[in-house]
Amino acid sequence: MPTAGESWGRYPRVRQAIVPLHWRDDAIPAVSGSLLAYGNGRSYGDVCLNEGGNLLHTRGLDRLIAFDSATGGLRCEAGMLFSDILAFALPRGWFLPVVPGTRFISVGGAIANDVHGKNHHRAGTFGEHVRCFELLRSDGSRCICSRDENVELFTASVGGLGLTGLVTWAEIALMRVPGARMSTETERFGTLPEFFSLSADSESSHAYSVAWIDCAAAGRNFGRGVFLRANHADGAPPTLRAPRASVPFTPPLSLINPLTLRTLNSLYFHRARAGRRIVPYASYFFPLDAIGDWNRVYGPRGFLQYQCVVPPGQAQEAIAELLRRVAAQRDGSFLAVLKVFDDRAPAGILSFARAGTTLALDFPNRGAATFELLEHLDDIVAAAGGAVYPAKDARMKGARFRRYFPQWERMLAHVDPRFSSSFWRRVMET
Ligand SMILES: Cc1cc2nc3c(=O)[nH]c(=O)nc-3n(C[C@H](O)[C@H](O)[C@H](O)COP(=O)(O)OP(=O)(O)OC[C@H]3O[C@@H](n4cnc5c(N)ncnc54)[C@H](O)[C@@H]3O)c2cc1C
Repeated sequence: MPTAGESWGRYPRVRQAIVPLHWRDDAIPAVSGSLLAYGNGRSYGDVCLNEGGNLLHTRGLDRLIAFDSATGGLRCEAGMLFSDILAFALPRGWFLPVVPGTRFISVGGAIANDVHGKNHHRAGTFGEHVRCFELLRSDGSRCICSRDENVELFTASVGGLGLTGLVTWAEIALMRVPGARMSTETERFGTLPEFFSLSADSESSHAYSVAWIDCAAAGRNFGRGVFLRANHADGAPPTLRAPRASVPFTPPLSLINPLTLRTLNSLYFHRARAGRRIVPYASYFFPLDAIGDWNRVYGPRGFLQYQCVVPPGQAQEAIAELLRRVAAQRDGSFLAVLKVFDDRAPAGILSFARAGTTLALDFPNRGAATFELLEHLDDIVAAAGGAVYPAKDARMKGARFRRYFPQWERMLAHVDPRFSSSFWRRVMET
């Protein structure tokens, strides 16, 4: 588990006061300085950090409030984790409508980043499935936000990066599933055009699809990867165990370097077994959760994730250019993920997911060289008319943010005057 007040990339490190919350009806504790809610610190950068201010730690708000087994409506406190919702709902035949690549996130965090999953082409983002929530503002007022009531505050808070106040509880619509297993199909592809055609072919047949791409590959291997698509299948829920292994300490240097990276990528590509399999849901959705504290492998300086989306017309060319740039620097990542997003109306004012192709890459923090590379990637994304995901970001400049999210000015009217974050100050002030 991340240390309270840390983000998943372990960069940047900041000083802030941790203020634990216990009851959803309590007032905001009387502290001086700015405020920011903290879910479970699974954002990679500084969107969940508040240097010099207070973090309202919501893990104590983890109670289930109500569940309607006829409609799948679930009301819970905002600090409840997806892992706990799944443990409750799956044996009853229900599943979360959208899950990201880890189940250790809170409902409040899922709303504030309007997270997406491998089923964006079918279900959109998490915010589309939120029926209502209570928002506690710093002046002590509480309001219920939904698509009928306080609509502007609802759309500002979904994907609102925690800036509109504290979500105390939320009601979400779960979806029925036949069981706790997944019917999966794995296929290798040799080029980017092959990825795009597999993705298009899977849209109507598979609820979930995603690809891993070998971003260390060059020459005739350039653009190769492994495509994974799936549908829910029947079968009993497995007993959820604690992570099978964990990284016990932070090594003095990143274990991910150009040599280990090329070897790992090549091994993964060649060992991927094509074909159909029935697997437990957790191994399809959350493979990384099996290794506790895997973020430590990047060493004491931490790492940066770069996730962008580029529009459909530019996608093939821009993704190829991004991958070429990364391969040329020989600093790519093992965890490189590609997914095509559907063209849907965004659930929130600042929602990230939009029509196009999204690419996510991890980079060990090597200081100036890494930041320079990410700046070059930004040039490519901006030129293509794309955007970078705030949930994963720790360094984008304000001018870029405002270009990626031109609707930022509409957001300003809804930002609570006492709520702020390290991310928000960076992108508003630079
Ligand atoms: C291995 C891994 C895989 C991931 N895969 C994906 C993916 O596939 N898709 C995706 O979209 N994301 C993905 N993520 C990112 C993650 O889903 C988001 O960053 C998520 O928001 C983290 O939730 P959290 O509860 O840890 O919130 P935190 O990281 O603690 O906070 C995130 C934001 O939510 C706000 N917040 C938290 N609680 C509240 C509250 N009660 N009221 C108001 N604001 C609140 C915070 O202020 C902050 O702005 C992944 C992360 C990891 C580590």
